[in-house]
Parts: sequence; structure tokens; C-alpha cells
Amino acid sequence: MLTKEVNVIRKKYSKKLVNVALLYPNKYQAGVESLAIQILYMLFNSENEFYCQRFYSVPPYTSIEEGSKLSDFKILCVTLQYENDYFNFLKTLLNTGIEPRSANRLNGPLIIAGGPCVTENPLPLTPFIDVFIIGEVEPVFPDLKKAILFYADSGELDVFKNIPGAFIPSIMKGKTVKRVWAPNLDVFPYPTRQVLPVSTGLRGKHPVAFGSSFMVEISRGCTRRCNFCLIGCQTLPHRERSLQKLEEIILEGVRSTFRNRISIISSAFSDYSHLFELLEFIIDNKLYAITPSLRADRITVELIKLIKESGEESVTIAPEAASNRLLDYLNKGLTIEDVLNSVEKIKQGGLNKIKLYFMYGLPSETIEEILKIKDLVDAISLKGFKKKNITVNLTPFTPKPHTPFQRMPQTPFKELVKRETLLLKNLRKTGYNVRSYDVKSAIIQTVLSRGDSSVSDVLEMAVKSGGTWLAWKKAVRKLKFNEEIFLGEMEVKPLPWDFIKL
Ligand code: SF4
Repeated sequence: MLTKEVNVIRKKYSKKLVNVALLYPNKYQAGVESLAIQILYMLFNSENEFYCQRFYSVPPYTSIEEGSKLSDFKILCVTLQYENDYFNFLKTLLNTGIEPRSANRLNGPLIIAGGPCVTENPLPLTPFIDVFIIGEVEPVFPDLKKAILFYADSGELDVFKNIPGAFIPSIMKGKTVKRVWAPNLDVFPYPTRQVLPVSTGLRGKHPVAFGSSFMVEISRGCTRRCNFCLIGCQTLPHRERSLQKLEEIILEGVRSTFRNRISIISSAFSDYSHLFELLEFIIDNKLYAITPSLRADRITVELIKLIKESGEESVTIAPEAASNRLLDYLNKGLTIEDVLNSVEKIKQGGLNKIKLYFMYGLPSETIEEILKIKDLVDAISLKGFKKKNITVNLTPFTPKPHTPFQRMPQTPFKELVKRETLLLKNLRKTGYNVRSYDVKSAIIQTVLSRGDSSVSDVLEMAVKSGGTWLAWKKAVRKLKFNEEIFLGEMEVKPLPWDFIKL
């Protein structure tokens, strides 16, 4: 890895240091924009007892800091932000000579996993992971630290079992695990010295390369309770950082990362209590903001003007569906009229570009409702947006654990492809920019997110055969695995993930 970075931490060799490998199971470009990696890197390396080095799922699979081998580490922490990264995670173990199955991994590292995917349902990964942390790491980090240090001397796995949120598959089968979360975000340390590439390729206000901004997380959770949304169910209660704390973080962050763009991280950005003050602070300090999506019903002309002044050229809204019946069914708390009103305000506020998110393959969705997506995008365009300035993102609906839609069937593969093709044809020929999430990945994602530990055999076999869709299908056939249990309507009681209490 030749990328030069700011704020990279290197520690002198000492026998007393416990080396911790921190794996982001994807490319460097994706990992460098992961706040989870920045938080874990800070937490471990601020302790004298640890030396935490980063790894990505890219050959030669050596650490960024020292070029160390992954298999030489006693502790391996992995964050799983997306189910499809399970493939990269296993591939990394196999390609570095680490036995994937915990029960057979006699000399390999102890593997600790966290992140939203394992919090929703850790079961498909249970044969591979020694310790899961269900929920947020900050409040339990002191306990985790003690346990790791004790384990490094004794090799006793039991030491992790009293950590709140810990799930140890080999000794806690059948036990209820309660998600752990930080009640007050202000009191926990924030990674202001984010490790980012030196050369960001900033051209004027526009980032042309990854890692070009300083990430600021303003809140966690969302109060809206949309029926399909995992974030809304998994990260409750809604918590905000105070404005004063955010101002301190931003000033310190831009000083230490040499960035002038602030990437705001929040699932409820437009609900933030001090939204205007925060944007004004960014503008007053001659910084630029990269803003997450806005709720259509929170958009005002004044807000758009401020967002524009902060350097943004477009805004993102996620109607998700294009009929009032479906919006109601999803519990979006929005109507088509709200969406169109918000678009008018975006135009009046002076922004000419818009990004839209829609889902398809929703339960009860009709073909007429699919076609309404094009009608809605046309109506948005008629509010004064050139077609080339409208980007439409399409995602197949995937039912998620813990959500009100957790038992819903996944629309079958062929039907999803049919609906996707219809949408792409209608939208592309009109001249909109359209991006579509891969249907095959969505199907696998549903099995990985709603599966139990039986899924692990298919996953391992598919990874060993190349990790492609065909390899997955072949493994399903060879192992006589009944995918339909997890793709169809899940009537079983209890559900595989019911032991996780959010
Ligand atoms: S979809 Fe958006 S508004 Fe709805 S619960 Fe999820 S994060 Fe909140």
C-alpha cells in the first residue's frame, strides 16, 4: 500500500504491546470513508497497551502501518457494515492462511466482530467469529480493553462474556443478548485526527478523490420508524451531539486533517435540532459541507439556501415509493404532494441538481405503482430540473430483521429483474441518470441478513469457489440448502435473530 496518509499512527516495537489488526473487509477507498474504522483506530491506539494496524481486503493483505502479516496478529477486529462484505471477510482469512472456522483455529487470531450487520443478526457468521459486540463500541471499550489484555496473557475466551453486548457463540448459545448503545454522544471521545490520504485531489470545492473530507457524525438513530428501515429500528433512541461539541470537533478536525470539506454523517440530518446554526458555523469558518439526504417534509427555502452557501450543488431526497398508498404502507410519513413541494423549495433555494432514492419490489407493489416512479420523476423535472441534473437511484427492497417488515417475502429474483428492467428502460430513455443496485447482491443480502448459522456453510463454499453469484447458486445446490426459508415469508417462531434485543 503506497498511499501516503495524515495522522497514521506508528508505535515502537515492544514486547508488552498487544498488536490488534483492524480489518475493513473491502477496498481501501471504502474503508477510508468509514467512521467505524476511524473510531476503532482512535480507541485502540490511544491506549498505551495496544498497537492497532489497519488491513483491507486487497492483496497483499498486509497492514498499512508496517506491512505486517494478518496471521501474525493475536487479535483481529472486523467491522461489518454491509452483508456482502462477508464474502471479502472470509476471502481475506483464506488468502492469508487463517483458518476461517473458530473451532479449528487453534493458533490463529481471536476474531472480534461488530457493526450494523452483526447487530441485526450475527448467526450466519457464528462459526467464524469468536466474539461479537452487539451495538455501539464506545460505552464498552474499557471492558473490551481489559478483556483483550487478559485474553492475550491467558487465552481464556470466557473473559469476554460479561461485557455488555458481547455474544460468544461457542459458550452463549441460546442466551439473550442486549444491544449496547451510548446514551450521551458528547461524553465519548471523537476521532478528530482522522487517518486520511495525503493527496485528496481537491479541485476548488469539488472532491475528486476518496477521503477528501473530514467526517462529522452529528447524531445517531432516527425517530421516524419507516417500516422497512433497519437504521430506524436498530439505532434507537435518537441521540444528538451538542452544537458546542460539534463546533469543537470541526475546528480540531480541519486543523489535524487539512481538509476544508465536512462530510456530515447522520440518518436524521434534517431533524437535527441545531441544523441552521451548524451550517452557519461551517460557512462562517469558510468550510464546505457534504450533506446527507433530507426528509422532504423538512425542506425549506432557507435551508436550501444555506446548504447551497455551504458549497453543495445538489440535494438528496428519498421518496422510496411513488404512490401515496405505498408511502402510507411504508409509514414514510410523506405524501407525493410533500415530495413535489419540497422539490419546488429546492429550486427556489437555488439548487438545480437533485438525487432521488426509490425502492422497488416492495410488498404489495403493483406494476402501475412501479410506473408511477417515472411519472413522479417527470413531475419533479417539470419543476425546473434538467433531466441530466436528476439522478435516480434504484434499490430492490430487502426485508431486514427487527423491522416491521422483517417477515415479509423477498420479491423473487426473476420478478425483481423484470421490474428493474422496466424502470431502467423508462427512466434511461427519457435522459435521467439512473443507478441501480445489483439484484443478485440484494438476494444474497436477504439470505445473509435473515439467515441462521446454516447459511455459513453456503457462504464458505461460495467464497472458496470464487465468491460470485454462480458460486453462491452452486453452493446452494450442492449443499441442498433451502434458500426459500429465508427468502420467502418467514413464518417461523421464534425468528433466528429474536435473541438479539435491540
Ligand atoms: S428511512 Fe430515513 S426517515 Fe425513515 S426511519 Fe430510516 S432513516 Fe429514518
